[in-house]
Amino acid sequence: MSKATATENPPTPPADHRQLAIEQELFTTSIYSPGSPLFLPNGAKIFNKLTNFLRSQYDDFGFQEVITPTIYKKSLWEKSGHWENYADDMYSVTGRGASGEKEGRQIGEDKEYGLKPMNCPGHCLIFASKQRSYRDLPIRFADFSPLHRNEIHGALSGLTRVRRFHQDDGHIFCRPSQIREEISRTLDFVKLTYEVLGLGLYRLALSTRPADHYIGTIEEWDNAEAALKESLDASGQTWTVNEGDGAFYGPKIDIILKDTDGKEHQTATIQLDFQLPKRFELEYQAPAPELEKRGLSTEDPALLDVQGPVTPVLIHRAVLGSVERIMALLIEHYNGHWPFWLNPRQFIILTVNDSKPVVDFAKDIKKKFQRFHKQNAMGPRDSDFNPVAVGTGNGLSVDIDDSPRSLKKKISEAKRKRYAVIAVVGAKDVEKNRLICDFSGIPDPHNRLIQNMELRHGRTYRDTKQKTSEGDIESSDEMTRKAEAPMLDPQDLKSYPVQVEYLRNLLNSLQRVYF
Ligand SMILES: [Zn+2]
Repeated sequence: MSKATATENPPTPPADHRQLAIEQELFTTSIYSPGSPLFLPNGAKIFNKLTNFLRSQYDDFGFQEVITPTIYKKSLWEKSGHWENYADDMYSVTGRGASGEKEGRQIGEDKEYGLKPMNCPGHCLIFASKQRSYRDLPIRFADFSPLHRNEIHGALSGLTRVRRFHQDDGHIFCRPSQIREEISRTLDFVKLTYEVLGLGLYRLALSTRPADHYIGTIEEWDNAEAALKESLDASGQTWTVNEGDGAFYGPKIDIILKDTDGKEHQTATIQLDFQLPKRFELEYQAPAPELEKRGLSTEDPALLDVQGPVTPVLIHRAVLGSVERIMALLIEHYNGHWPFWLNPRQFIILTVNDSKPVVDFAKDIKKKFQRFHKQNAMGPRDSDFNPVAVGTGNGLSVDIDDSPRSLKKKISEAKRKRYAVIAVVGAKDVEKNRLICDFSGIPDPHNRLIQNMELRHGRTYRDTKQKTSEGDIESSDEMTRKAEAPMLDPQDLKSYPVQVEYLRNLLNSLQRVYF
């Protein structure tokens, strides 16, 4: 081992999401609610962008979002088995009963309730709320509810060890014969999402039937495991087996992500469950129920004539897993260099001075750009920049700095805050209806995109005055020189003059590029 000297640089410690969150103003914590992060506006933007991305995919993947209670009576948790197996990790709360009044007190007053650690029982209640036929299945519910788990105090930290968190939770109720197809679709959803997030490689691990403590028949387990294996093979990705490591109620697939330090994190999960549907006495009507239960079909009219109840298979699935944990990984992975769509600081307009026309122009642009996005989100999906269509609700984040400080100070602050696009506007720009824009805060892939969009060659946005006698302007340097923006130091800001309309379209398009 070499001896460290004063001249050697100490090794750079890996980025810590808690430190980065302070710099980027993402979240804070409080002694008044240990383990429950308080998301600041920037953190809330990232949170919403992630959940809105998933929402935008739910139509394609057949999920329907539901909204369910945070507290349920103890009797529900007894039915689900949580009170018996999970009570130590649950918060209990008291509340009034709700079935009327008796001698001045509500019936069942001060009943014990539990704060939900999972959404599954609520989704079972929705499934059971009406008669279901085999034709209705699969039924897929999604839920972003906050969940509470009473973790021991010592373990709490940042966004990774928390007591309150959110999952992109989903439950699929399907026929035994549909397991393979549902697992394949879920693996496709995982693949798409992780490509979009750009978090890099992940591996898949199948956990199979425990040796002794399990429920259900061996045939059910064998069928389910065979279906999972087929789906894993069909996914074309590498996977491994953790023999005997499944939960007692069913086999599962874990998605394990490797971070830049090589450390592994379990994020997404797909879990089969034979138990919960039985505990909640869930059923659907199907012909030839005895065969249906085993995932088999028949053409025999005599057998098909008999309808009967069958218990659906329940698949618990989360693509991100904990939204908070994925955020921690993303914060460390991007280390401030957010892709445009996820960046909470997308666009800032710096005014050269605080004169009324200039400030009004900046405010007008902010309003226009945000409004444009709203209109666009309500219109038909635009696949110009596939891979993925836009979700609604991801408004463009536009800030203005019209403080009476020097432009140099404003630029350096905007750069330090890592705004993706920094625009400067002065009196001349108001006249010409343009902004001087610096796109260097957008990570590399997007710069390539901007090049593709001919921004650098100015074929679309340039001022007509900039057109040379030879025709097109060749280089960006040439453009900057001719941009009539002497207030800018090119060392500070590699700048391009961009017409307002063009910029509006450009930023809006970038909003819809998920990489
Ligand atoms: Zn669940």
